[in-house]
Formats: sequence, C-alpha cells, structure tokens
Amino acid sequence: MELFAVKGIPEIKPGGNIPYYIEKNIGLIDGDIILIASTIVSKSEGRAKNLSDFTPSERAESIAKSFESLANKPKDARLAQAILDESSEILIETPFILCRTHFGHICVNAGIDRSNTGSHDILLLPIDPSHSALGLKKQFSSNVSVIITDTCGRPFRYGQVGVAIGWAGIPAHRDWRGKYDLKGNELEVTVQCILDELASAANLLMGEGDDGIPAVVVRDWDFGSFPENQDLFRKLEDDVVRKALHRWIP
Ligand code: GDP
Ligand code: MN
Ligand code: MN
Repeated sequence: MELFAVKGIPEIKPGGNIPYYIEKNIGLIDGDIILIASTIVSKSEGRAKNLSDFTPSERAESIAKSFESLANKPKDARLAQAILDESSEILIETPFILCRTHFGHICVNAGIDRSNTGSHDILLLPIDPSHSALGLKKQFSSNVSVIITDTCGRPFRYGQVGVAIGWAGIPAHRDWRGKYDLKGNELEVTVQCILDELASAANLLMGEGDDGIPAVVVRDWDFGSFPENQDLFRKLEDDVVRKALHRWIP
C-alpha cells in the first residue's frame, strides 16, 4: 500500500468544495481511500462557531465553576454549553468532560476543537460524519471510499491517535473469526478495526499543527471483501465500560 499526503489545499471556508481541492492537487484512481480530517469537513459545513453563539445554562455555569476551582483559572461557561449541546450523554464531568456525541462517538469535550479553527473560536464536529462521508464520496470523479478522521485520546494509554468518526464505501472491520493462526487454531474473537488503523496511518502524515495536510490518499490497500453494515460505536448492551461509567460516582 502507499499513502500520499495531499498538499496545496487552502484554508477551507463554509461551503468549501473539499473533493474539488483534493482532485486539483492529486490524481485519484478507482479504489483509492480518501482520509479527510474532520476539521475541514466541519469548516465546510459551517460548524466553526464563536463562543458568543452560546448562552450558558445553569448546568454549563456549574460545570465551568467546578473547572475553575480545579484549574485555578477562569473557564468559559459558553464552551461548556457548546459541549452540552453537542452531546447526547455526559459520561464523566470532571476532571475532563467525556461525552457521547449525538452520532455515537465517545470523546472528550464532544470533539470540539480550539486549534485550527480558522477565524472562529471553536470548531464543532460534523453533525453526522458518515452522512458527510457519503456526500463527499459521491462528489469525487473516481470511485473512492471516504473516511473522516479526528484526533482522539484513549483510556488506559498516554497520547492521542487518529481515529475514524465517519465513513462511506468501506467496511469498518475485517472479521478474522473462523480464520486460523499459524498453528491452525481457529480465531474466535478477532475483529480488526481497519477504519481506525487507516485513520491512524493517515494521521501520521496530517500531523496536528500547522502542516496544512487535511487529506491523505491510501492506494493499493487490498482489503478483500468483508461484511458490510458494521458499526464503529458500541451499542450500550455491548459496552461494559460505558455501563460501568453509568454506575460510577466520582
Ligand atoms: P483534526 O484531527 O480533524 O481535529 O484536525 P487537526 O487540527 O489535527 O488538523 C489536521 C491537519 O489538517 C493538520 O495538518 C492541519 O494543519 C490541517 N488543517 C486544518 N484545517 C485546515 C485547512 O482549512 N486547510 C488546510 N490546508 N489544512 C488544514
Ligand atoms: Mn479534532
Ligand atoms: Mn488532529
């Protein structure tokens, strides 16, 4: 497989045509996988906002106050309100806000960014990244798959990695169950999340700062054929950790 960083993409504005800028800067062929940073999808979808767009509720004020006493510096209740608005559920409130977004992704601060936000204060994640991915996929002139990525922290491990938050035209997983290991033992549980693995690989080329590389093309990655319609976000009944957090009182 090969990975190509797509250079030459400008600062994306609301309505910005991402497939146009990508195809202008790199020749695509059928079968390519295009990984796009959620940052620019958000920008093109008008999800860059100012804090003045948010009026804090009592809950947002109380979250900001508890952060103020933890951090010993002023915290903006309007940001807390943006996080609450973007969340269907708050799993941890301090010392950081762990949320489930309306589209099912669990992450800190509902994935709201304060860096690479263009001329606005904050950047909200796309409302429905898989829907965005499908829309983008249809605009390319080649038959490509699209994965929308974000940088995300992980429990148990230091450091953040690129993960997939939306996708179109590619299965989420490679199912190894029923295959064999080197000794001929049948694999019983391994389901490999290829979306996240490709997202992490692409994120190596994107970087996190001023590189200006919001898109990466993966070519010649033979993923065979796998079952479709898989999900990335666990359902509550399959999520032991989320259920434990529901019972957890800090
Ligand atoms: P996130 O991981 O989706 O939150 O995005 P990051 O803020 O980490 O940015 C990923 C990459 O996209 C970095 O190389 C940024 O410099 C780049 N980037 C962000 N916004 C833009 C933009 O509007 N235009 C270009 N060309 N690059 C951008
Ligand atoms: Mn981000
Ligand atoms: Mn990033």
